[in-house]
Amino acid sequence: MREERDTHLVEVLGISDETPDAKTYDFEVKSSHFDFLPGQEVKLYADTPPKKSDWRFYSLASSPLKRGQIQLTIKHEGGAFAPHFLSNARVGDRYVIEGPVGKFLTKGHRLISEGRAKTMVLLAASSGISPFKSLIEYSVDKALDLDIILMHSVKTRSDWIYKSVLPRLLERCSQLRLVYAFTRERESLYHNDFNGYPSDRFRYVANRRFQLEDVVAHVPDFADSYYAICGGITFIGGIKAIGEPGMLQKLINGGVPRESIEIVSFGAK
Ligand SMILES: Cc1cc2nc3c(=O)[nH]c(=O)nc-3n(C[C@H](O)[C@H](O)[C@H](O)COP(=O)(O)OP(=O)(O)OC[C@H]3O[C@@H](n4cnc5c(N)ncnc54)[C@H](O)[C@@H]3O)c2cc1C
Repeated sequence: MREERDTHLVEVLGISDETPDAKTYDFEVKSSHFDFLPGQEVKLYADTPPKKSDWRFYSLASSPLKRGQIQLTIKHEGGAFAPHFLSNARVGDRYVIEGPVGKFLTKGHRLISEGRAKTMVLLAASSGISPFKSLIEYSVDKALDLDIILMHSVKTRSDWIYKSVLPRLLERCSQLRLVYAFTRERESLYHNDFNGYPSDRFRYVANRRFQLEDVVAHVPDFADSYYAICGGITFIGGIKAIGEPGMLQKLINGGVPRESIEIVSFGAK
């Protein structure tokens, strides 16, 4: 196995099923220190049938203050790496990660450290929620006085990553509010499926994507808030062929300055 300056050996401590195509892995970091900030990612290396020592980027999903351990949430996108990793990784297996790298949420951290962050609006699609879980846990651990509005878009309730983790975070962070878009499900199917989600801090829309109006409705100081967007390129940039703007354009169209928005794309689908 490779061991270089910024590479670290990690061991799988636990595996949690999130959805039929995504799992969260708890790793023990064997190196004496591994520091990162929410928003950063690592390269995770693994041997796959077509390629030895292949790798993909994964956002660090846990609080950086949980020393010696990290979490990665890995979703199958039909490619050559994640499907193999999800089927084969077992508790006790060892892997190499490289990093941390990445500058996502840099501006958010600056606002926090300068005491200028009031409301952070985190817009995620699917596994794009991973870096935001890290940020929310960090905010809880540091007892930050920060209003966080997490807007998470998933196809159906079966694609809801962290469905069982979020109620605990809502309990620990009274300044956290959640808004969901179940883009391919009808509301009539729901029958009270939201146990553990307090109705005053959990809202959803069904059978459609988030629109600018949803953000305006849920963010009191809409134009003056800080925004971070994470997900596939379609969520961020839209679909040109059908004239559908992505979240970035929707916010800018609504009057949010571009410099108040940070983005990271997980892939091209
Ligand atoms: C900075 C960064 C951070 C990332 N963090 C995470 C993370 O925390 N969790 C996670 O599951 N994935 C994350 N990804 C994506 C990850 O690297 C893999 O691409 C993903 O797990 C799919 O692996 P795969 O082998 O199925 O598909 P790949 O072989 O990687 O890709 C197959 C196809 O799917 C597209 N694609 C890959 N991921 C996505 C996505 N999330 N949304 C839309 N299209 C996608 C690719 O562009 C490609 O067209 C991140 C990517 C980047 C660049």
